[in-house]
Amino acid sequence: MTAKILDGKALAARITEELKPRAAKLAQSGRKPGLAVILVGEDPASQVYVRNKIRACERVGIESLEFRLPAETTQEALLAKIAELNADDAVDGILVQLPLPGHISSDKVIDAISPDKDVDGFHVASAGALLTGKSGFLPCTPYGVMKIIESAGYDLAGKHAVVVGRSNIVGKPQALLLLRKNATVTVTHSRTSDLASHLRQADVVVAAVGRAKMITGDMIKPGALVIDVGMNHDENGKLCGDVDFESASLKAGWITPVPGGVGPMTIAMLMTNTIEAAERRHN
Ligand code: NDP
Repeated sequence: MTAKILDGKALAARITEELKPRAAKLAQSGRKPGLAVILVGEDPASQVYVRNKIRACERVGIESLEFRLPAETTQEALLAKIAELNADDAVDGILVQLPLPGHISSDKVIDAISPDKDVDGFHVASAGALLTGKSGFLPCTPYGVMKIIESAGYDLAGKHAVVVGRSNIVGKPQALLLLRKNATVTVTHSRTSDLASHLRQADVVVAAVGRAKMITGDMIKPGALVIDVGMNHDENGKLCGDVDFESASLKAGWITPVPGGVGPMTIAMLMTNTIEAAERRHN
């Protein structure tokens, strides 16, 4: 069997296209949607992510306000900037690019963002809303993964989904979203014994670990739907996922590539959340 490739790049382009008229409508009423993006320090990967997010804003018709702060910025100064943006009517969404320098508490910073402007969906109020099934902003990566699964026409009800990784930004919210769609969910992590035996029983695999090609074809149940969130570099410095695409695509029914899978969807969902935030604030 050769897996069907789930093209996240094409899906992200369609979603972005559909957001344009919503952004234009807001702009016509004198309220162009605005996203504030804060980058502290000079982490090269973060700079690429921020640049991609700003480009996406331009495509959709969202005003991006970029704040590049030096690595020595104090937590107090960053919290003051967030307070200012919370109060700024032109700002609908606030994004603080992670990771932050070690002397700043990410939790304190994220929880200082007004939940109405929490378009990354990392605020404790957004996490609580997700846990209890209330409305709130969904974290962009797991939200994008759900859109990819939906686009495949795949019904999760009763299926066994195995999530690899339990971070607050991917693994945990992913597990909750799969549960919301009535999958039976197993969450695995670095202390899981015999990961392969769990994976071999999975109808759906979502890999969010950060270890190049660690999930190989022999761990995949024939016909499974495999979503690869990982963004790593292989021995030749080439971008690759947590899944060994070559061997896994011979066993899976559906698979996302890296690049061109989850990455572009994360940005598309950030744009979706920002438009949503602007509509909620202005209606
Ligand atoms: P974290 O480092 O926060 O979490 C990694 C998780 O993987 C942890 O829960 C860890 O377990 C688990 N883990 C580590 N080693 C193993 C192992 N051998 N077996 C099973 N589980 C293991 O990473 P993130 O969740 O932030 O990101 C994961 C990956 O996804 C990274 O490659 C990142 O670059 C990528 N990413 C991609 C995005 C995109 O847009 N495509 C967006 C966000 C992330 P434990 O909790 O026990 O330590």
